[in-house]
Amino acid sequence: MSAQIIDGKAISEQLKAQVKEEAARLSAQGIQPGLAVVIVGENPASQVYVRNKAKTCEQLGMYSEVHRLPESTTEEELLALIGQLNSNERIHGILVQQPLPSHFDQNKIDDAILPEKDVDAFHPVNVGNLTSGHEGFLPCTPAGVMELLKRTGVELAGKHAVVVGRSNIVGKPMAMLLLREHATVTVCHSRSANMADITRQADILVAAVGKPGLIRKEHVKPGAIVIDVGINRLDTGKLAGDVAFEEVAEVAGAITPVPGGVGPMTIAMLMYNTLESAERAAKRQQVK
Ligand code: NDP
Repeated sequence: MSAQIIDGKAISEQLKAQVKEEAARLSAQGIQPGLAVVIVGENPASQVYVRNKAKTCEQLGMYSEVHRLPESTTEEELLALIGQLNSNERIHGILVQQPLPSHFDQNKIDDAILPEKDVDAFHPVNVGNLTSGHEGFLPCTPAGVMELLKRTGVELAGKHAVVVGRSNIVGKPMAMLLLREHATVTVCHSRSANMADITRQADILVAAVGKPGLIRKEHVKPGAIVIDVGINRLDTGKLAGDVAFEEVAEVAGAITPVPGGVGPMTIAMLMYNTLESAERAAKRQQVK
C-alpha cells in the first residue's frame, strides 16, 4: 500500500474542538447552540445516527432535543412538530432523520423547516444559496469532504475532480462545492458510459454511490486523491465503502478509509452548522 490515509476521525476531532470552544463562548453570552433531531420509526441505522448526534451535541456543550415519533405518525403531526421547533428560540438547528417512512413526502418536510434552521441544508433556499454562492448552510457530507481536502492540503484549483453519484444529498452539492474551489468537475452516474475512462482522468475522485467496492484499481489514476463517501453494511455485518480499499490504496496518492473517513466529518459539520446558526441568531438579536 502506498497511499496516504486521510484520517477523518482525527480531522473531525480538530474541527469539533474548535466548535466546542466557540459554543462555550456563545453560551457564556446566553446563547447556547441547540439542535433538535426528529426521528420517525425504528430504522436501526437511523437510531444509531440520532444517538450519535445527540451525544456529540452534549460533548460539545450544545443543547440537544431528540423527538422520537412512532412509525404511525402522520404528515400533519410531523409538520406541526416542525412548526413548533421553527418558533422555539432554544433551537438553532432542526434535522429530520432520513429515510422517512414511505407515507411522508420528503420534499414537503424539507420545505417546512425554516431555512435559517435548516442545518442539513436540504431546503430549496439553501440549495439555491449553494448554487449562487449566497450565504446559507452547506450540506454536511459534501462540506465535510471539502474540509477533509482543505485540512489535508489538497490543491483544487485547475484540477480535474470526478464525482460518482448525483444525489441531492451528496453528489450534486459535492460537484457544486468543488466547482466553487475552481476544480474542473465531471459527474458520473448509473447511466454514464465507459465510466472507468472518465474516473481515470480524475486528480480527485469522490465516490458517493452506495455500492460496495464499485471503484476498483482500474478506475483510478496513479497518485489520485480518492474520497470514499459510501457506507455499506455487508452481509458479514462489516462496513465497507464504495471503493475497493486495499487495491485502490496501491495506486492512489491518498485515500479515506471506511469507517473513519468521511463519516465522522459529516457529524462534525452538522455541529458546525448548528453553531453557525446560533451565531447568526445572536447577530440578529444584537441588531434588534
Ligand atoms: P443515492 O442512492 O441517493 O445515490 C446514488 C448515486 O449513485 C445515484 O446518483 C446513482 O445514479 C449512482 N449510481 C448507482 N449505481 C451506479 C453505478 N453502477 N455507477 C455509477 N453511478 C451509480 O445515495 P446517496 O448519495 O444518498 O449515498 C451514497 C452513499 O453514500 C451511500 O453508501 C450512503 O450510505 C453514503 N452516505 C454516507 C454519508 C456519510 O456521512 N459518509 C452521508 C450520506 C450518504 P442515478 O442517479 O443514475 O441513479
